[in-house]
Amino acid sequence: MSIQSAGESRPGSAGPSQQQTQAPRTEPAEALRSGHRTAAVIPAAGRGLRLGPGAPKALRALSGTPMLVHAVRAMARARAVSLVVVVAPPDGADEVRHLLDEHTLPEVVVVPGGETRQDSVRLGLAALPDDVDAVLVHDAARPLVPVETVDAVAAAVRDGAPAVVPALPVPDTVKEVEPCTDGGPEPVTGTPERSRLRAVQTPQGFTLKVLAAAHAQVAREGDGATDDAGMVERMGVEVVVVPGHEEAFKVTRPLDLVLAEAVLARRRVTDGF
Ligand code: C5P
Repeated sequence: MSIQSAGESRPGSAGPSQQQTQAPRTEPAEALRSGHRTAAVIPAAGRGLRLGPGAPKALRALSGTPMLVHAVRAMARARAVSLVVVVAPPDGADEVRHLLDEHTLPEVVVVPGGETRQDSVRLGLAALPDDVDAVLVHDAARPLVPVETVDAVAAAVRDGAPAVVPALPVPDTVKEVEPCTDGGPEPVTGTPERSRLRAVQTPQGFTLKVLAAAHAQVAREGDGATDDAGMVERMGVEVVVVPGHEEAFKVTRPLDLVLAEAVLARRRVTDGF
């Protein structure tokens, strides 16, 4: 595997020494066409406090392997993805680089992240080389996304959609409330029609031009967004949904770790994975 920190050299301006360090991999002809590469940016700089005390969420182990390594593999397995950028905790880029180095992975660039997810994604986008024109942004906290979902998002972007999100229908009825911070009852202000709701996952796919513009605009407005597609929507650009997958769930609470271990155990039995 070849891992470099963005501080060492920009991937787009790779000199001969960097090229020598890249692991050989088979790339689709489309990915090699100059100016038409798809990269994955994995924001992994969150502390993951809802998971309880311990290491940053992305570095916690699932079946003995850090969640982040699962996420990198999930993205690198996709045919369209030719580069993975990992956004590490602001003070943890070296630790993440060493950790990734212990595993067999394709080329990964590591950059330090920011205070918010939005900052982290922006810093990841800044590390992309010039020949990348499409980007998949994938939460490290969704380590088990199947390759079919990643492929579907990448294909929809390549087919001309400027912004694509994988999503699933919502099983629960959802209420809108007036939030109450002291734990008291919260007045319901509305009930959106469930058949029109979708729960959105990652990777979210974009043309780089559109996502970079969204980050530039929202940063100017000083707004903290939790979702890249939402920022694109605010610019008036159409976002489309492709089918998500139940195994692309976000590991947020302790029970999610149990579910993730169960999914991996089933994969070991059925796929030998
Ligand atoms: O907090 P949340 O679960 O929404 O985070 C989603 C993803 O964003 C996680 O993979 C997390 O590591 C990442 N993140 C980040 N930088 C932050 C906050 C969150 O990269 N400052």
